[in-house]
Amino acid sequence: MKIYETHAHLDFPQFDQDRDILIRKCIEKGIAPINNIGVNKETNRASIQLAEKYDEIYATVGYHPHDADKLDIQEIKQLAAHQKVVAIGEIGLDYYRNLTPPKVQKKAFIEQLKIAKELEKPVVIHDRDAHQDILEILEEFLPEKVVFHCFSGNVIFLEKILEKGWFASFTGTITYKNPQLADVIRMIPTDRFFVETDSPYLSPQPNRGKRNSPLNLQYIIQKIAEIKFLAPKKIAAMSYQNAVDFFLSKKA
Ligand SMILES: [Zn+2]
Repeated sequence: MKIYETHAHLDFPQFDQDRDILIRKCIEKGIAPINNIGVNKETNRASIQLAEKYDEIYATVGYHPHDADKLDIQEIKQLAAHQKVVAIGEIGLDYYRNLTPPKVQKKAFIEQLKIAKELEKPVVIHDRDAHQDILEILEEFLPEKVVFHCFSGNVIFLEKILEKGWFASFTGTITYKNPQLADVIRMIPTDRFFVETDSPYLSPQPNRGKRNSPLNLQYIIQKIAEIKFLAPKKIAAMSYQNAVDFFLSKKA
C-alpha cells in the first residue's frame, strides 16, 4: 500500500532523536512522498533542507497565523521558487488561539495568497475557528488550488469548498469521537480528499496523546475506509492519486 503523507513537521525538535531512522522506515513501508510543512522562517528552511536530502520529501513554505507578525514576503517568494517547494503553506487564520491579532493574520494571509497566485502554487490552509473569514478572503483572491488542512468544518462548509473546486485533508482527529467529521467523510467525493498526520501532533486512536508520525497514517485510512465502506487499499490509492495531481502535477 502506497501512502502519500501530505502534511508533517518532521523538522520539529520532537524528531531530533530519530529523524533519519523514522524517515527511512516510512519510505521502506511505502509512506512516500511526504510533504514537510513550513510555518515560519526556521521551519521553511529546515523543510527545504529535508527535501534536498531525501528524494521522497517535498517542502512547503509559509508563515502560519501564529507567526503572521514575522512574515518576510520576499523570503517566501525566493524560497517558493525552489524546485522541491510544492505549495505555499501552511497559511490562514487561527481565531482559537489568536497568538497574533486577527488584523495581522489577515494581512499576512492575503500577501501570501498573492504570491501563491503569482507563482501558480497550491495553498495549504490552516483554519481554526475562522471558516467564514477564510472563505471570504479565498473568494476574493482565488488561488488556483486550495486544500483545507485538518478539515474541521461541517457538511455545509464542505459543500461550499467543494463548489469552488477545493480539497479537504484529514488527520487523526477523524478517529476521535466526532460525528460531524464522520458526516463530512461520508459526503466527500473520492477525488477531493487527502490524508495527513500533522506529525508530531494529533496522533490518531489508538495512539492518541503520544508523538505522532507518518507511520500512523494507516489508522486514518482505516477510519475513512470504514465510513465509506471501501477497502483501505482503495482509500490509500485515491488519496495518493489526488495528492499527486494536486501537489506534483506540472502547472498549466
Ligand atoms: Zn501543520
